[in-house]
Formats: sequence, C-alpha cells, structure tokens
Amino acid sequence: MYKIAVIPGDGIGPEITEQAVKVLKAVGKHFNIDFSFFEASAGGAALDTKGDPLPQETIEICKSCDSILFGAVGGHKWDDLPAEKRPENAVLRLRKELGLFANLRPAVIFESLADASPLKKEILDKGFDIMVIRELTGGIYFGKPRGRTNINNGFKAIDTMEYTTDEIQRIAIVAFEIARKRRKKVTVVDKSNVLETSRLWREVVKSVHKNYQDVEIDFQYVDNCSMQLVKAPYQFDVILTGNMFGDILSDESAALTGSIGMLPSASLGDGSLFLYEPIHGSAPDIAGQNTANPIASILSAALMLRYSFDLQWAAEVIENSVRAVLAKGYRTADIMHDGCIEVGTLEMGELISREIENYK
Ligand code: NAD
Repeated sequence: MYKIAVIPGDGIGPEITEQAVKVLKAVGKHFNIDFSFFEASAGGAALDTKGDPLPQETIEICKSCDSILFGAVGGHKWDDLPAEKRPENAVLRLRKELGLFANLRPAVIFESLADASPLKKEILDKGFDIMVIRELTGGIYFGKPRGRTNINNGFKAIDTMEYTTDEIQRIAIVAFEIARKRRKKVTVVDKSNVLETSRLWREVVKSVHKNYQDVEIDFQYVDNCSMQLVKAPYQFDVILTGNMFGDILSDESAALTGSIGMLPSASLGDGSLFLYEPIHGSAPDIAGQNTANPIASILSAALMLRYSFDLQWAAEVIENSVRAVLAKGYRTADIMHDGCIEVGTLEMGELISREIENYK
C-alpha cells in the first residue's frame, strides 16, 4: 500500500490536485495498486484556520506517508504579511523540514502542443526531453554573510555563494542515477571560468562520475547553456546545476514547452519522503472557474510513481494517457488552439482518467 499526503493549498491548488488524485485512483483501480490519500492543509487556508501556513499537524501527516502531492499556495489576501507568515513560506519550510535538496523539472515537448512553443518548427521537429536538476537548499540564496551596510555615498549589499563537497556530491549522485534511467548523459552547467564554487562543482562531479562510467558527462558555462537551450534543446538529457543557475534555466526550459500549466516537478532529498508539485502558483486570477489546466499536477503524480514508488511503467501510463487526450484535440483554455475542443479542469481530469481505465 502506498500512502500519499495531499496538500491542495490555495487558489487553483484544490481544483488541479483533485484531478491528479482522480488520475491516481484510476491507475490504482485499473492496475490493482493500493493508493491511500491523507489530506492536510497548508498555505493561506491553513493560516486562516490554524494561524500557521504549515501547521505541525500537516508535517506529521506528511511524515506518516510515503509521498506528498502538493497543489499551490498563496493569494492576494495574504500578500502584505511578513515573509515568515506568508502562505508561500509553507513549501519552503516543508522542503527544509524534509531535507529536499534536489529539484527535478522535466521539460518535454508534446507533439500536439508544438504551436504553443516559442521555438521554430525546424528546431521542434527534432523534439526534446530535458530533465533539469537544480540544487535546492544551498548556494547564493542561502549563503552568509548577506545583507546591506551603509557606506559613504549609499549602501553596500552582499550575497554569498557557497557550496560544500557534500552538497555537490549528493546532488551529483541524484543526477547520475536519474541519467542512468534516461539517455545516460549529464551536462554540468556552471561558471567555472569565473567562480570558485563552480570550480569545486566540476572537481566533485568529476570524482563522483568515476562510479558512473556508463553515463556521458559534459560541461557548459551557464551563458552558453542558456543560448543552447533555445538553439538546440535536443542535445540535452540531464542538466545538473546549482540553485541560482537552475532557477533561471528551469524557467527557460519550461517556457520552451508552451504553457506553465503543463509542467510538473519533483523535490527529492536525503530520506525516502519526496514532494511533487506543479511548477506554477495558485493562479488566483482563474481560481474557482474550472478553467485551470490540471496536467502539471497530473504529470507530477506520474513523477511520484516513477521516483517515490519505482513504478516506471505506471508513470508512463499516465504520461501516454495525457499525450493521447491531447492528440484527440482536447485542450484547457491556456493551450486552446483553432480546431481543438475546449474543456474545463474537471473534464480534462476525467478524460485522462478514462484513457487510463481503457489502457491496454
Ligand atoms: P502563477 O503561476 O500562479 O500564475 C501565472 C500565470 O499563469 C497566471 O496568468 C495564471 O492564470 C496562469 N496559470 C498558472 N497555472 C495555470 C494553470 N494550471 N492553468 C492555466 N493557467 C495557469 O504565478 P503568479 O501569478 O506569479 O502567483 C500567484 C500566487 O501563487 C502568488 O501568491 C505566488 O506567490 C504563488 N506561488 C506559489 C507557488 C507554490 O505554491 N509553489 C509557486 C509560485 C507562485
């Protein structure tokens, strides 16, 4: 039996998460897999009812489960609160609490959505399937000292970029293990021509690579990589990089695929309890209208089957079913195109579930 903590959150979070749970139930029923779901609150919803965007009770529910499906948190109502009280703090705290240091963001082009991509047809015709692996808990976003001091004619601001051998080693292992299950290539992205931290990254990744000789490795400077992603995205399999470069490159690679409503993510860590969530936020502008695209959440559920439960084939069933529904012309508003059939959040979840129920 697989126990899944479900945190719907705010805005469109509950609508899209409901569809991902529906899809998991369809997989469970059709293939006889026992999934149990345990709902927990976080974000603005939890702040309003329990006074904390991440109540202790939610952490405990998560820790009693095998995996976490997260919706999205945040909304205008809570925008003026101090950082530690804001709903968005829930996901940052949860990542920290569970030691989730590796963020995986697959960027895949679905053939039937090629029109939604900003890339030229001749580039898209070669296809792409990239896994960006971003270090999530270190680097310049957390390094100390940081802050501002007064100087004669204004201020001096400081951020510190720091990485240790251990931090690089553990994420390099994640990258090589994942590459082994894909096309066996890791591109390490850094700025080693300038940064000391990048030179340490190269050194450590090369030494970890000694245990993964079946995986090809290459290195790119981040400025070149950002250019290569739009010129020749098909050259990449796994991109391994630090926190800040990963933040930027994963958004760039996401944009290549079309809509933000299509992109899932996984956050993996030290233990065996991982978190899966769409990359988008709570989209308060469309909440409650049954127009949000649930596919990012549904594909996050597929990542859960692959990385938490080692059910590679079941993950593929979900991904193939999404592909089949899109190929039949069904679209939510964000990916709508002439000649297609527009459906709502709920209907998209039902269509994908039905595809799974009829899967052979
Ligand atoms: P957003 O991702 O919520 O929305 C950006 C745009 O994309 C909006 O126009 C929205 O309608 C659209 N969009 C997003 N998801 C969609 C979907 N599934 N289907 C169709 N359209 C979709 O980003 P934002 O507007 O900058 O932020 C809104 C709130 O979400 C803020 O409070 C922000 O802090 C929060 N946020 C939360 C998370 C998280 O929970 N992990 C991540 C990012 C932002």
